Formats: sequence, C-alpha cells, structure tokens
Amino acid sequence: NLPLSEVDPEVAAAIGAEVGRQRGTLEMIASENFAPRAVLEAQGSVLTNKYAEGYPGRRYYGGCEHVDVVENLARDRATELFGAFHANVQPHSGAQANSAVMTALMEPGDTLMGLSLAHGGHLTHGMKLNISGKLYNIAAYEVDPQTHRLNMDQVRQVALENQPKVIVAGWSAYSRQLDFEAFRSIADEVGAKLWVDMAHFAGLVAAGLHPNPVPHSDVVSSTVHKTLAGPRSGVILCTEEWKKKIDSNVFPGHQGGPLMHAIAGKAVAFKIAGSPEFKQRQERTIEGAKIIADRLTSPDVTEAGVSVLTGGTDVHLVLVDLRNSELDGKQAEDLLHEVGITVNRNAVPFDPRPPMVTSGLRIGTPALATRGFGAKEFEEVADIIATALKPQPDVAALRARVDKLAQDFPLYSGLEEW
Ligand code: PLP
Repeated sequence: NLPLSEVDPEVAAAIGAEVGRQRGTLEMIASENFAPRAVLEAQGSVLTNKYAEGYPGRRYYGGCEHVDVVENLARDRATELFGAFHANVQPHSGAQANSAVMTALMEPGDTLMGLSLAHGGHLTHGMKLNISGKLYNIAAYEVDPQTHRLNMDQVRQVALENQPKVIVAGWSAYSRQLDFEAFRSIADEVGAKLWVDMAHFAGLVAAGLHPNPVPHSDVVSSTVHKTLAGPRSGVILCTEEWKKKIDSNVFPGHQGGPLMHAIAGKAVAFKIAGSPEFKQRQERTIEGAKIIADRLTSPDVTEAGVSVLTGGTDVHLVLVDLRNSELDGKQAEDLLHEVGITVNRNAVPFDPRPPMVTSGLRIGTPALATRGFGAKEFEEVADIIATALKPQPDVAALRARVDKLAQDFPLYSGLEEW
C-alpha cells in the first residue's frame, strides 16, 4: 500500500501539475466546476472495489449492504432536490444517461426532435455521428436568426411538420431560460414525450434560480459535474410511468456494474446542493455571468466587433459573438489562455467559420463562483476579458491581474500537499 508518488511518479507528477494549473489559472469553461473535497474523498474511496449490478435490494452480487445505503441516499436526495418521483443515479456520464433515455422512450427509426448542435444543442440530441443520429430520425429546431433565442412558434412548427415521438429540450450553449410549459404543450399537441436534458443548468434548478423542468417532463436527464459541482457522471429523473423502463435501459440496457464510488460522490453532491451555501454560490454564478455580459456589451468592446449573443444572459454562461471581430474563436481562446483564463471556443448560430475554428467563445462562471468570486472579482475578470479581446492587449499586464485573483482565492486550501 505505497503512495501513488512512489508507485507511479509519472502519473503523480501529471496530477500534481494539473492541480497547479487549476490553482494558477481562472477556470471559465462553462461545463466545468471544482468538486468539493468531500466529493473527491467519496469518489476516491474503497467503493471503487465493489460490484453491485442491479439496484438496491435487488443485486446480482453479495456484500452490497453498505453500497445499498449509499445508492438509496443518492436516489432519495436527487428526488427530493428536484421534486421527482424517481431517480436513477447509475449513469456513468451524461451521454450514457441520454442513450438510456432514448432507448427507453423510442424505437430505432422513431423521430427525435432536438436543438441543432450548431445552435447550442448537445451532440447526444441528434448529431449524425452520435448514436442518437444513427438510431433515430432527427428533426432539429433552431434559434431565431435575429434574436438568437428560441421562438416557440417556430419550435411548434417543426413539431407539427415532423410529428416526433420525443422532443428534447436542453442545451450546451444557450444563455436563456427555456419555456418548459410551452415545450409540454407542443409535445402534447403532437403526441410526443417530453425529455429535458438539464445537464448545464441543473445547479441553478436545485437552487431555485431557474424553472424546474421536472413537473413538465416525462424524463429529465442531467450530468452531475457542471453547475451541480459533483463527480463526473449522470443522473436520470422520471415520472412513475417511466421508472421501470428507465431503470432497465440503464442496467442491463447500457451498463454493467455501477460505479459505486461515483454514486457516493453524487449522494454527497446532492446533499450539498440542498444547502443555503450552495444557493448563494449559484446566485454569485448568475450574477458573475451578468457582469461579464454587461462588460462585453459596453461600447469600447462592441467597437472591436465583439458582441454577446442575445445581448445578455439568464444563466451561468455568456456566448461571445466574434463574427465581426478580427479574432476568430480559436485565436480568442488561445489569447485568453495566454492571459491565464481557460474558456472554450464555440460555434455561434449561422457560424461562417469551420467547427475547429468557430466565431464564438463560451464563458462560464460556475467554477469561479465555487472558488469564492463575488461581484467585485467578476468585475475584474470581465474587464480583463474585455481588454484582452480589444486590439493590441498587453498580455503580460493582464496575466499579472489574473495571477493576483488566483492568489487571492486559493483553491483547495488546506490541501497544499496535493
Ligand atoms: N447533455 C448536455 C446538455 C451536455 O452539455 C453534456 C456535456 O457537455 C452532456 C449531455 C454529456 O455529458 P458527458 O460529457 O458526461 O457525457
């Protein structure tokens, strides 16, 4: 039982370097967060040793009495947090959760209607190389070309024309709230099931800062590691009607043994997500995104051809539109990397540039809110980003401002030995 540093110094060194990178830079990838120490402890526990195919009380392996406790805690906390009838906490990832949802709700060849990937949807909602695009007939809806928001009359039109079996509402790059009641009524009108993928905004829902899709949906899927700040993994919530089908499509439909260490991490994350501290963190997350959107829509920035899709945000991210800027998405991402801010380039709707280059940036605030940032710090970050995206930025000076923020808000403090 030697420590990692002795057994495998190469892996230990890479982990150490990654801790250093997370501590020394500002993490603004909208889908990332910092899992708290308690979640990391649960995930790094001996539960990784346990096989537990099946569900609590109905396992195909002996010795499951303690992992049953853990899975029941995770399930009960998830259903309570989101007001759902049933939770399946076994999906290894968001994509796997989505695959199980699709096979539960549809037969191959049925029509799935989702937001186009190029307009902010996720690849599991019908991209042709993904299993969703291979197994199902895809009807995509898009954002309005003028407002870059969903127009529910247009969504309804696509539904009437395509008569989908399932409508999925949810996104990876969209900065406004969805109208779940309108989605429900469109689904009812065409006889479709409504599936919401709340992977991105689940933390905001848990905090009561975003409409909850659960009361309007047949099935809701999510990741646990984005705004929810739990272990990298997935979860599915559903009505009583879909409980059996969802469970059997996760196991044995898609997976073998559940990752009990990850499920323990989910239980901890759902507990934390019910706390007042978590709510306050989600408030700072949204406030920070609004501060960044405000700064990036001020005249000195728009003069440089930089703008914000939809003109602002209601959630944890801002979509920067660089179609009129000299910088493309790749150049802007690289520039911010040099400054010490990590973001990802992102296609904007109707993007003239190819997907590896793009004309946009997706900038998220969840990780920095977890790190402790409030309005004052987000104003400083917003100004650093704004200055970087204007012509001839002084990269060294901006990097020094980033370093100061990183030092003032130590990450995983008390765990310096990492
Ligand atoms: N659904 C949405 C909306 C997402 O944004 C993502 C991840 O980015 C996923 C599903 C997939 O999650 P995972 O990367 O865990 O497979």
